[in-house]
Amino acid sequence: MNEENWSFETICQHLGEKYEYEGAVVPPIFQNSLFVFDDAASFVDRTKDRRVFDYTRINNPTTDIAEKKLAALEKTEQCRLFSSGMAAISAAILSCVKTGSHVVCTEAAYGPTLQFFREYLPKFGVETSFVDGRDTNAVRNAIRDTTSLIFLESPGSFYFHIQDIEAIANIAKERGIATIIDNSNASPYFQNPAELGIDLIAHTATKYLGGHSDIVMGAVCGSAERMSRIVENEGALFGGNADPFASWLLIRSLRTLAIRMERAQQSAMKIAAFLNAHNSVAHVYYPGLPSHPGHELVKKQMRGTSGMISFEPTFQTQQKVFQFCEGLRLFQIGVSWGGHESLAIPLCDPNRDSKWFVRMSVGLENVDDLLDDLDRELKRASA
Ligand SMILES: *Cc1c(COP(=O)(O)O)cnc(C)c1O
Repeated sequence: MNEENWSFETICQHLGEKYEYEGAVVPPIFQNSLFVFDDAASFVDRTKDRRVFDYTRINNPTTDIAEKKLAALEKTEQCRLFSSGMAAISAAILSCVKTGSHVVCTEAAYGPTLQFFREYLPKFGVETSFVDGRDTNAVRNAIRDTTSLIFLESPGSFYFHIQDIEAIANIAKERGIATIIDNSNASPYFQNPAELGIDLIAHTATKYLGGHSDIVMGAVCGSAERMSRIVENEGALFGGNADPFASWLLIRSLRTLAIRMERAQQSAMKIAAFLNAHNSVAHVYYPGLPSHPGHELVKKQMRGTSGMISFEPTFQTQQKVFQFCEGLRLFQIGVSWGGHESLAIPLCDPNRDSKWFVRMSVGLENVDDLLDDLDRELKRASA
């Protein structure tokens, strides 16, 4: 069976691996900044072949293995790993704008991404319109002659808003506008936006791709043409390259990505259904529930849904919501997500009458233990 036909799980175990170091089944960490050459001629000619390793800011053999796997998982030609999700996202965005450019961005994007558009890019004369990405017409109507980029995040942050990826990609293509999506929530296991026509797929690898809460990393995937420009410009010039040790940990993480995502979905579906039926819960936001407003699109463009759930409790005082989160024993209070451990954070939405809600990342604990934990504290907070 050829490499091109390998399935997701097989790519994670085998693609890019050479076993050339004493047969080691786990590739070594090339924890070196520098690669030396046999002779002067090969040194002088080194840039003719980008595959020759030279200097770790440009490329590194350990990082290269992880990049090959992720490019294949996202069904793209090339991937570049970065030192964080924000390094990856900002590099991808900067590759698509210049002074005078206009951007259309979904309001559902990650906070620092919104901040990059709203507060940082205006310094360079780049203006952004923020739209409700669930409304494809709102995206279309926001386009100007100067629009050079449409930025999506689906499922989005906090309420997991779903955008019609293919419809928006088609609108962009007709007008020669580049598209980027933050695909961190679904991971390539549940969604491949390149197949729906998106140009650049960005990830924080800190969340599901890493999965163990022990690395901070990011990735951008796309065509060889777009990616070689990003590697040479935003990659090499900003210097936000991935560290070889983090790349090695990411290779370790990818081995289990498929089974971690399966379990996240399985547990999250049970928890979302449980919350949906609970007396102390007013509303559940989970794209896997048929009641989620984007559920039809979920069925069309995703193969499944991850372990991120938000819900609005019936108890709406800060004190009760804090008491609920603090009472949970298996859900920790923390900002990140997608790791082995469950998390639950209290959030107050200024755009929705200061309603309190809880955002959860469902981890790899036994789901019955998680359900017991939630049930006990929901009852206590509403007593
Ligand atoms: C955390 C996060 C990021 C940023 O990733 P870092 O690795 O922390 O830089 C980007 N997008 C989404 C959706 C995130 O949740």
